[in-house]
Amino acid sequence: MMTTVPLDKATEHAWRQAWQSRDAHYDGRFFVGVVTTGIFCRTVCRVRRPNADNVRFFENASGAMASGFRPCLHCQPELAPGARWQRSAGIVAHALRLMESSPSEYRSVSALANTLSVSRRHLGRAFRQELGSSVQEFLQSRRLMIAKQLLDETTLTVTDVAIAAGYGSVRRFNAHCLEVYGRSPTVLRGKVGQAADEITLSIPYRQPYDFESVLAYLAIRSMPNEQVNLEKGSWSRTEQQASPDDLQHGSSALQVTNDSSSCLRCQISLSEDNSRLAAVPDLMGRVRRIFDVNADPSDIKRVLSQDDVLAPLVQEMPGLRLPGAFSPFECAVRAIVGQQISVAAATTVIRAMADKAGGLSPMALLSINEEDFPMPSARARTIRSLAKQVCEGEIRFDAVGDILREGLLAIRGIGPWTADYVAMRAVSNPDVFLATDLGVKKRARRLFGFDGEVALRARADAWRPYGGYAVMHLWLNVSQEASMKANADTNPKIENKIEAQSEKNLREQKSKYEQEGRKDE
Ligand SMILES: [Zn+2]
Repeated sequence: MMTTVPLDKATEHAWRQAWQSRDAHYDGRFFVGVVTTGIFCRTVCRVRRPNADNVRFFENASGAMASGFRPCLHCQPELAPGARWQRSAGIVAHALRLMESSPSEYRSVSALANTLSVSRRHLGRAFRQELGSSVQEFLQSRRLMIAKQLLDETTLTVTDVAIAAGYGSVRRFNAHCLEVYGRSPTVLRGKVGQAADEITLSIPYRQPYDFESVLAYLAIRSMPNEQVNLEKGSWSRTEQQASPDDLQHGSSALQVTNDSSSCLRCQISLSEDNSRLAAVPDLMGRVRRIFDVNADPSDIKRVLSQDDVLAPLVQEMPGLRLPGAFSPFECAVRAIVGQQISVAAATTVIRAMADKAGGLSPMALLSINEEDFPMPSARARTIRSLAKQVCEGEIRFDAVGDILREGLLAIRGIGPWTADYVAMRAVSNPDVFLATDLGVKKRARRLFGFDGEVALRARADAWRPYGGYAVMHLWLNVSQEASMKANADTNPKIENKIEAQSEKNLREQKSKYEQEGRKDE
């Protein structure tokens, strides 16, 4: 049963004002339960505001549901943008991230407790203390939110929705839906479902969102089975283990485009036997991570703009994001490959390696000999060590705290730059600053007048927890300057040309973000 966690006065005041003014910046950062109706809403809900005494605030939808509030059918709390857990850096925050990034893996309290290396009881206590509800209540409400979105946005049958959302049976889905919404899934949806071989789901984000710059960044780093079409504005990925039939149909497993209504559209192909249904929440989790949709640009701006040198950069690119990776392992391999070569050259090497090994999974990379890697043998050994440790479960990208960093640093050939880059991009931790990165140093020299690691770290301390966004701003800034020189009389959108340019040209012309990369020996 819920025990409300008290809010500090300043937060409650800010939330009340945001609620009264329907402030979209706060959408998804808190929810409001109306005591008289028993319904909870997003800040942007259009319903008339009740008496101020009759509302209660919740930091997330699960908390409101655990307190017995029913999700509003008008503003649909399941479609609010996600929020990064702000209040704590501890196990609760980590558990919430795991639930979001791999819902199918983390369906139970035990699975979460295992990964976090704590007892179930300890985890339960932490949840109650910080959030006022149990882990189980959180898991259940998340499941229902996923199901509700599938009911609304797809034509899938109720049975398929139940499978995709992770309910053990339709009966349980029905019961849970009745309990929370007071009606069955079929009645709630108001239409009958049917089989589908493809679904499209929306993934909301907060404005401003610079989708083009995220795509441009991903374009020059795309993995062999990923494609970025800058003209159409889409990112797609075919699953590596796709069955021959899937490939025959030429259908990509996943395609992401941008929508004008503050959300991405994620199109997912399903197999005929619907065996891929259960993967839907995980795919959504990965897309959320790659496209950094949980970011809160107003908060990032608030923090970074306090630095008078960074302020104009943030002002110029307020929708900049920190792109993540579909596969943390692939991203880590990429970081190792790229240690001494340009971003574009790394892409070429990665493709050659995937061809040789028949993929980029740890197993695939272990299946070829060191001398078959298209790179110096020392680097090949580093990649093989990483693959081996991932296979054996020694290195887990979802490990809590510094465990991953320490594990990576223990591998010969992985230094602090690579480990931090992995934290920033593969694991999407924004609280990382790459003080030894060449691109960062180059820009810092110009902007701050110094580039020493100690001095840079001291400066970056004030940018926490958003050092990763500062890195993105500095990288982009370097490349913009370079591209302005290189393309003085052409379209500034040099990314459109990137694909057409030869590898050699790419290296010569400092393309967007090209400055990334520093050199672990
Ligand atoms: Zn509402």
